[in-house]
Amino acid sequence: MHWPPIKKIPEALTPQPHLVDYDQTCANFSWEDVLRELDGSEGSAGLNIAHLAVDRHADGPLSAHLALRWLGGDGTTIDFSYRDLQEESNRFANLLDQLGVGKGDTVFCFTDRIPALYFAALGAWKNLSVFCPLFSAFGPEAVYQRMQRGDAKVLVTTSRLYQQKIAALRKRLPKLAHVLLADVAEDLQEGVWSLPGQMAAVSSSFTLPPTDPEDIALLHFTSGTTGMPKGALHAHKAVLTHYITGRYVLDFHGDDIFWCTADPGWVTGISYGIIAPLVCGVTNIIDAEEFDAERWYNILESEKVTIWYTSPTAVRRLMCLDIKPLEIFDLHHLRAIHSVGEPLNPEAVLWGQNVLGLPIHDNWWQTETGGIMIANYLALEIRPGSMGRPLPGIEAAVVRRVDDSAEIIEDVEVQGELGLRPGWPSMFRGYLHEEDRYTKCFAGDYYLTGDLVRRDADGYFWFVGRADDIIKTAGHLVSPFEVESLLMTHPAVAEAGVIGKPNAMLGELVKAFVAVKPDITADDQLRLELIGFTRRLLGPAIAPREIEFKAHLPKNKAGKIMRRLLKAREMGLPLGDISTLELEGNNKK
Ligand code: ATP
Ligand code: MG
Repeated sequence: MHWPPIKKIPEALTPQPHLVDYDQTCANFSWEDVLRELDGSEGSAGLNIAHLAVDRHADGPLSAHLALRWLGGDGTTIDFSYRDLQEESNRFANLLDQLGVGKGDTVFCFTDRIPALYFAALGAWKNLSVFCPLFSAFGPEAVYQRMQRGDAKVLVTTSRLYQQKIAALRKRLPKLAHVLLADVAEDLQEGVWSLPGQMAAVSSSFTLPPTDPEDIALLHFTSGTTGMPKGALHAHKAVLTHYITGRYVLDFHGDDIFWCTADPGWVTGISYGIIAPLVCGVTNIIDAEEFDAERWYNILESEKVTIWYTSPTAVRRLMCLDIKPLEIFDLHHLRAIHSVGEPLNPEAVLWGQNVLGLPIHDNWWQTETGGIMIANYLALEIRPGSMGRPLPGIEAAVVRRVDDSAEIIEDVEVQGELGLRPGWPSMFRGYLHEEDRYTKCFAGDYYLTGDLVRRDADGYFWFVGRADDIIKTAGHLVSPFEVESLLMTHPAVAEAGVIGKPNAMLGELVKAFVAVKPDITADDQLRLELIGFTRRLLGPAIAPREIEFKAHLPKNKAGKIMRRLLKAREMGLPLGDISTLELEGNNKK
């Protein structure tokens, strides 16, 4: 199906985007310049993430500027200026120091989106400890697996989560010396401390130790969409990517009010829910609650959000509802919407344009890349369905692995693996305790991402699928994303997940799992209609031969459809690691 490009008139955009001339910006770009702009000399305390995100603003003209606004479920709002964040993170850094937690020690945080999480991350970076967030909906075993692998020395959590999920694990985590409870006023016992009590007892001044840009700052576990989550390590230097993507992709300007809906349990919620907006000195909105369409539209309106970063799952949920937001809510402050995490169907890009008055800008990256690598920019034409063009400073190519080398596929419109030339600042520095796995990600001059893409003649990249998900049917390679996207254009379909089901004749048979929109009856007539619809538009080789209706598709807690689970269930195979599986049917409106 042909989706016409969405043309832009850069001169008509206010404020003028930071990136207008893409080719020129790429030609002049150097990471050394970004380093000089942010710091001056490698190896000084200046390249510490927390220094750049907080201290340099707190010690300058942005001291009183609203850095973080926290919205509680009961209507409470708590504001923190850059100076407030500086003091709170200093206290946390002093507390770690006092507890004997130092450089390279891992500080885990297992909380909902509460202010303490943000102080802990920033304070851990000041102390040169390694911060590792855990999504609060994880069960005890998922938490144990990660804390054990990550040698947790400190854990920040709340009394509910501690009692429900951690207390019983402590014997199995002998290295976990300190638990800090964010919501109790008194210490519980030796080693289970009151975070507010301990914070109050230490100084709000802290002298940042010299930070080597290569010092490890973050341990991030991947989403577990394709298998056991991997622990990716990131260095302080990653902040250069956060800063430059904050400017060129999200397009932060001084007065912006930014809302990233991702939870800090995932990489997006740290790189863009904390670091990038603060480094760029804008106001960052944190909502403590989960997805709720009306609440979300209300937040966009009442907080006067100017830049919104969300996910395809959230967009699809909004698309399902019969709400015309512009008739109910005043969203005129909004000037850009961005999305990441899964393929964004062309339909969703246009829904943004038609229903919210702004197209949705898709961008691509992964835990391992630490920041946005390929994006649709405000001033550039959008090609719906394309993830956009590489960030200036990023060399992306379509490659084919041949033994230990990577052959570049120069031809356009030919599918291959997305390769990135190593050297960008936020590239992961390793997989925790899995050196071999890390080494295997590299071939020749490239880091191989595991995602299949093609590039068009103008340098736009198009997502084809995950290398593991590609379906081989009767000699054809079929992208589940292509089939899902088409199904999504049918008025009855809310969501679709497509897999290859082993078949003696075809190798694999294309099977689609479909969740229908509210008020639609999923019956044989609709099944036939959908098969006919896809056959007509994709051709019989690609169209699904089987369609199964489901009330909900299995998603992980990061909101991604877990095709590997659909497939394992279909084949009656073991489900593998399901620590990140969201409770099915837990999709709040
Ligand atoms: P795991 O590696 O454990 O299987 P995961 O790959 O889902 O989990 P993340 O690092 O959170 O973990 O997700 C990155 C992946 O998400 C990318 O490699 C890609 O497959 C997918 N993705 C992210 N953004 C996009 C996008 N804009 N378009 C298509 N796919 C995307
Ligand atoms: Mg991955």
